[in-house]
Amino acid sequence: MRYEKNDQVELTISDIGAKGEGIGKIDGYTVFVKDAVLGDEVRVKLMKAKKQYAYGKLEEVISPSSFRVIPKCSIAKQCGGCQLQFMDYAQQLIYKENKVKQHFIRIGKFEEAQIDQVLEPIIGMEEPYHYRNKAQFPIGTNKEGHLIAGFYAERTHHIVENTNCLLGVGENETILKTILAFMEEFSISAYDEVNNTGLVRHVLIRKGFTTGEIMVCLVLNGRKIKHEEELTKRLGKIQGVCSISLNENKEVTNVIMGSHTTCIWGTPYIEDYIGSIKFQISPQSFYQVNPVQTKVLYELALEYAQLTGNETVWDLYCGIGTISLFLSQKAKQVYGVEIVPQAIEDAKNNAKINHIENATFYVGKAEEVLPKQYEENGIYADVIVVDPPRKGCDAVCLDTMLTMAPKRIVYVSCDSATLARDAAYLCEGGYHIEKITPVDQFGHTVHCETVVLLSQQVADDYI
Ligand code: SAH
Repeated sequence: MRYEKNDQVELTISDIGAKGEGIGKIDGYTVFVKDAVLGDEVRVKLMKAKKQYAYGKLEEVISPSSFRVIPKCSIAKQCGGCQLQFMDYAQQLIYKENKVKQHFIRIGKFEEAQIDQVLEPIIGMEEPYHYRNKAQFPIGTNKEGHLIAGFYAERTHHIVENTNCLLGVGENETILKTILAFMEEFSISAYDEVNNTGLVRHVLIRKGFTTGEIMVCLVLNGRKIKHEEELTKRLGKIQGVCSISLNENKEVTNVIMGSHTTCIWGTPYIEDYIGSIKFQISPQSFYQVNPVQTKVLYELALEYAQLTGNETVWDLYCGIGTISLFLSQKAKQVYGVEIVPQAIEDAKNNAKINHIENATFYVGKAEEVLPKQYEENGIYADVIVVDPPRKGCDAVCLDTMLTMAPKRIVYVSCDSATLARDAAYLCEGGYHIEKITPVDQFGHTVHCETVVLLSQQVADDYI
């Protein structure tokens, strides 16, 4: 049977897609249904019908899945930031663990029995809400002319009003309400991106979970804000706020922050700890957004590295050196490589404030720095740790790793599809997988981190 636009069909959701959408089949024909949960029986109207697949609009949940829950957040559907809030958290974890497994089987072409032997249960969060230490709220004006803060609805620049995102910290709401009231009182405008007029574009808030320190940064279409002292007086009274700054962004752009930031009250950065390592975080620093699970993830990476104090370790794609500094506590020497110069500045500073002297950092592409160091300086590695962006490792980088032949490779990844591809390549080059552990860092979203231990030794050697 051929399906066409506007056809109504009934189907059972049997899978979840990369963006959290439900996937069901009718006579082998695939239908993608947003907001449908695994196990739902649904009635769907086909909005776009192609030869092999269609996109359907959820018309009715005929029989809800046993995994379906009422989202805690009342605007979960409009906002779209949480793709999985309609699914029970325990089931979200099963879904993520299975996704990692399927990637190793389908993309990595590993045997299912082999993966079953090395795949550890996913490590979920104890508290899957209020886990984000950073939020960036766009400021705008609603139809009635009132100032609002919220989030852009998926794929739009329409602001869904929300000052209390349940993934973020409770203080966000107090801070945003204080800023909006201040703006109303002193007639300070929100930025209007259509006409490129108005002043306040975004409010960035970050909190150090272990220190309680909070940073507020207003991103302005300009350099200054009227009645600045009154603003800092009001914000400064909020418990935890210790850094207030203004960032200037006059460009017509989707990039949130401009390059110029001025601290107008308190310190120019806040501090936080992951484990025993201290980090200084300024408005533009990169910093992991879920510090609790980051600690879990990096402790696992450290455990997999099996350091005794004599090892030379390379940490590729090292960002601000979070993993490098973790490893340096147990290694002889750590070398970090990262493409963003500012991140390396932060990494060096973080090493300094923690009195860590056995970590050296290089700015550059991993696929260029590593081969160059290997060819020119004959560098050596007992262990290589990688934590690349979604696209995974560059082939040149993987080849150099194989040539350097470290005893162990610890692969940390935010995309299990490219991870499975790269792991297969490393296995062809003489390694084998000893452990795979998914770690949920981003509850209610489709994202999942994974740590893999690849080793040259026989599998029985480890634990
Ligand atoms: N482990 C880091 C974060 C890694 S995220 C931390 O916890 O801080 C991936 C990092 O890889 C990003 O910082 C990104 O800037 C960097 N990156 C992207 N492409 C790169 C490349 N070709 N070579 C080196 N670093 C790269």
